[in-house]
Amino acid sequence: MMLFGTCTPQAERELRWCDRLPREANTQFQKLNYSNYWFEVYQVQNNIYAIYEPYQWQEVISYLIIGDEFALLFDTGNGIGDIKEVVKEITSLPIRVLNSHSHYDHVGGNADFDFVYGMDTEFTQLRKQGLPHERVAEEVSPEALCKSLPENVIAEEHHIRPYEIDEYVSEGFTINLGNRLVEVIAIPGHTPDAIGLWDKENGLLWTGDTFYQGAIWLFAKETNLEDYKHSINRLAEMSKSLKHLLPAHNIPLVDPSLLVELDEALVQIENETVKGVDSTDGRVHFTFDHFTILMNKN
Ligand SMILES: [Zn+2]
Repeated sequence: MMLFGTCTPQAERELRWCDRLPREANTQFQKLNYSNYWFEVYQVQNNIYAIYEPYQWQEVISYLIIGDEFALLFDTGNGIGDIKEVVKEITSLPIRVLNSHSHYDHVGGNADFDFVYGMDTEFTQLRKQGLPHERVAEEVSPEALCKSLPENVIAEEHHIRPYEIDEYVSEGFTINLGNRLVEVIAIPGHTPDAIGLWDKENGLLWTGDTFYQGAIWLFAKETNLEDYKHSINRLAEMSKSLKHLLPAHNIPLVDPSLLVELDEALVQIENETVKGVDSTDGRVHFTFDHFTILMNKN
C-alpha cells in the first residue's frame, strides 16, 4: 500500500489550510452564479443564501434571508470583497443588516448598507466606530489569503469602516421579513453582544461565532467564559427543537446536536476530565470530535 508517496510529515505540516479546501462538508452545496471572485454563494434553505469567503483564513459566512417585504443580511463579512454587490444580484428587495456580534470579520460591509440593526452594548457602540488598518492588517496578509485580493482592494488600506446603528434589538426582538419571522436570542459570552437568530417555524438557528465547526475562539478580552457556558447551556436545551444550525464560519449547515456536545465539552474542561494542549501562542487547545476550543492559559 502506498502511504501518500513522497508526502513526508514535514510536507504535511506545510500544507496550508487553503490546500485543504474545499471542505468536504461544503461539497454538497451547489455554487450559484451569484458567486464571484471573492464570495461563494450557496442556497442552503428555501430563501436563505450563505455568502462564504473561502479564500480568507476566517472562512466567514454571512447569510441573506429573504422575506416577502425585505431581506435580512445576517453579518456583512470581512469588508474585503463587495458583499453589497452580491446581495443586490440575489434580491432587489430592501436590505436590512443585523450582526451576529461586532467582531471585525462580521461587520466589515456594514457601512455599505442603509439600515443596520444592532444590540445596545458598550462593545457594540465601541466597534461601530470601525477599526484602523493596524488592527486588521493581518487579515489581508499573505498568510491569511489563498488568492490575491480582489481588484481595487489595497492591502495597506484595509480597515473596518464606521457605521451607524438604525434600530436597537435585544432578547426576544422579532423581525418580520414578510412571511418569515426571526427572533433575536441574546447569547453573550464570545462577545457581550453575541446573538443567535431563531426561525422557530423552520427550526433554524443562526449561531454566529457562539458555535461553528472548527476552532472556537474563547480567548479575547471581551469574551466572558461564564456567560458563554450559560449561553451554550441554553442553546443545548433548545437544540432538540432545531433542524439546522447556520454558523458564521466554515460550514453553513450543521447538526444541532453538536450544541449538546459543546455543552458537555465545556463541562469536561471545567472538571478537568479532558486535557488541553498548550500552544506557542499562549493558548490552550481542547480538541473534540467536531470542534476545538481555544482558551487562554490560566
Ligand atoms: Zn468570527
